[in-house]
Amino acid sequence: MTSPNHDSANNAPLRKIDCHVHLVGDGSSGSDCWFSLPTLWKKFLGRMMIKGVGLPVSSLKDELDDLYAHNLVKNIQDSGLDAAVVLAQDIPYSDSGEKMPDAAQFYVPNAYVAALGEKHPEIIPACSIHPGRPDAMDELEKCIEAKMPVLKLLPNCLNIDYTDKKHIPFWERMAEADMILLTHTGGEMTVKVYDPSFGDPNKLELLLDCGVTAIAAHSAGRSALFDDDWTEDLLEMFTRHPNLYADNSALSSINRARTLKHILPDDVQERVIHGSDYPVPVSGLGPMLSGKLSWKDYRSCAKIPNIIERDYQLKRGIGFKDETFTKMDELLKKAGLEAT
Ligand SMILES: [Zn+2]
Repeated sequence: MTSPNHDSANNAPLRKIDCHVHLVGDGSSGSDCWFSLPTLWKKFLGRMMIKGVGLPVSSLKDELDDLYAHNLVKNIQDSGLDAAVVLAQDIPYSDSGEKMPDAAQFYVPNAYVAALGEKHPEIIPACSIHPGRPDAMDELEKCIEAKMPVLKLLPNCLNIDYTDKKHIPFWERMAEADMILLTHTGGEMTVKVYDPSFGDPNKLELLLDCGVTAIAAHSAGRSALFDDDWTEDLLEMFTRHPNLYADNSALSSINRARTLKHILPDDVQERVIHGSDYPVPVSGLGPMLSGKLSWKDYRSCAKIPNIIERDYQLKRGIGFKDETFTKMDELLKKAGLEAT
């Protein structure tokens, strides 16, 4: 008998994958990455995250590209997971297709992520392409050619209205190539937001109807206290769209733990994919205070320095099933656009 954690085609065990891992860089290796921490609050967050992944704060000033990438590969290798989907990050574009770099906080080019994916089998490279940029279709072809099986977008930060019909050819080409969309849904606190209404999962209807398989990051929940909460809308959409999934990234954090209760029921977990949102800090305090994690598990997870492993163990303690860790590989195998 084939266990649910095995790929039925060749009976190879499915890989346990973190589907939501951010890359950051300063361009020091020639990557063209950049980031900006314009306010004191952003500087504080940046320092906290860099320390959280196990690097000294000084790495923000020097050689960040290589330090961050090597440390990330090591953290994946030292964890109980087999691989991670590592994300490029495009910049916002105006409605008429002009670059808006001032509205962005960081940039990670597709070619850099593709190169890391070629070098490290633990990295599944995800591209990021604003569908309204003038060269969107050409860039999409390049990323298909480079065997990048996932495309990541933050519509609320990049100014992307998914309901705009001019993007249909882009979605149709993605669907044809079996490229999976990982899209931010719900509120956002870490990155500068351009239009919060673009985080509404109801806006995914058009691209889902074009045949794109989509993963709604953060299960469309709130981040800040007064954000809109669209998780119930997302669950209702599951009944109509078999090609729609959700990830549980950042839900071990204090500001997002309230989303957990909606996605833990067995029938909902069938659509849930494990993700951390690395380097976003995870302590498990929120799940523990809301009664979703035992004090014992909270204490033992707090002692794990590697946040990829800590988030994995927190999710197990919270009650996410084994299938949530292997579902990403199941989707990749089905799509056939695997990088490795
Ligand atoms: Zn993220």
